[in-house]
Amino acid sequence: MTQSAEHNPNKPIPYGRQHITEADIEAVADTLRSDFLTQGPRVAEFERAFADYVGATYAVAVSNGTAALHLCALALGVNESSRVITTPITFVASANCVRYCGGTVAFADIDPATALLDINKVRQLLESKPQGYFSGIIPVDFAGNPVDMEAFRRLADEHGLWLIEDAAHAPGGFFYDSKGRRQLCGNGAYADLAIFSFHPVKHIATGEGGMVTTNNEALYRKLLRLRTHGITRDPEETEGNDGGWYMEMQELGYNYRLPDMLCALGISQLQRADAGLARRKGIARIYDAAFKDVAGIEPLHTEPAALGAEGETGHAYHLYVIRVPDRKGLYDFLRQHSIYAQVHYIPAHTMPYYRSLGHGRGDFPEAERYYAECLSLPMYPSLTQEEQAFVIEKVKEFVGR
Ligand SMILES: *Cc1c(COP(=O)(O)O)cnc(C)c1O
Repeated sequence: MTQSAEHNPNKPIPYGRQHITEADIEAVADTLRSDFLTQGPRVAEFERAFADYVGATYAVAVSNGTAALHLCALALGVNESSRVITTPITFVASANCVRYCGGTVAFADIDPATALLDINKVRQLLESKPQGYFSGIIPVDFAGNPVDMEAFRRLADEHGLWLIEDAAHAPGGFFYDSKGRRQLCGNGAYADLAIFSFHPVKHIATGEGGMVTTNNEALYRKLLRLRTHGITRDPEETEGNDGGWYMEMQELGYNYRLPDMLCALGISQLQRADAGLARRKGIARIYDAAFKDVAGIEPLHTEPAALGAEGETGHAYHLYVIRVPDRKGLYDFLRQHSIYAQVHYIPAHTMPYYRSLGHGRGDFPEAERYYAECLSLPMYPSLTQEEQAFVIEKVKEFVGR
């Protein structure tokens, strides 16, 4: 009998999960005992700390990552006449934000090696239409694999487009630019706006929560207004000034605020972000080594621009994705052993809603082939060595039989 990795089979292993400490709980409890449940001092504190963490000038905390995307689309003026390009391999919110504003979503296919939006496919699409046909591009740092935003900026500038970086998977991720400088995901160096999510499966968990980052002051001010009903109290922004109570609703905004107690949780979580990221990279290295040269298992490749000379990787590893020929078989087999792997993602253009808008199966062959083979293995900081060894053993057992 071969030696089996030690693992309690009654304890399920999910693909991702949050990590909550006593310090996190204390931080939330402190806010509950304070004068502010929402819009107190923790909001600006979280925004400042997060902006610093990703190297951006400004950050705006919002209710969730989807609200962040919606506000970005609004701030950039997306409307019924806008056409925006994104990837089919993403969470549907990356595309939906365009629809919220009445715009049209155009997809372009992925690079099969990385599963990131293929810049050459985007260029072909742009060149197939007259200048001015498209308004913007929303690349996604899928799985935590950083998009080369410098390359996308160059392409966007050639066509007069804006860029929103969906960095929901990639806080702490980075790529190296053409001068060899590290560029953190969401640092605003190339994208006009970037978004993050604090859903429990993401790197930093506040339950629900999101953030927009930018280096553009005008967009920053617009986002602050749009987050709170389009209202401003800043005397420098208002037309009139009747007294201390005065405010103006200047445009149609929303209530997309993130409460103080969740910002307190975010601040506490952010203090462990580097440790969590290091742990994710360590888990990825172990998977990489275990699957190296195993026929029938093909891990996604890291974006070349994210690889440093000394083997440093800018991949933020929200997900660890492998491609296997019999994905459904492996998914079911792992479930029988209480390993809850997941599929990221069903291509957005094949969703009934997007099909009703004229998109369809067969439109993006690389995305569809990828979907047929992809599986996200457990990846989260509290995954133990024993649990990971058990996952690896079971994956190899299935693929080798
Ligand atoms: C999670 C996620 C979002 C949306 O974030 P929520 O906070 O769940 O609204 C957007 N884009 C991507 C790529 C995501 O993974």
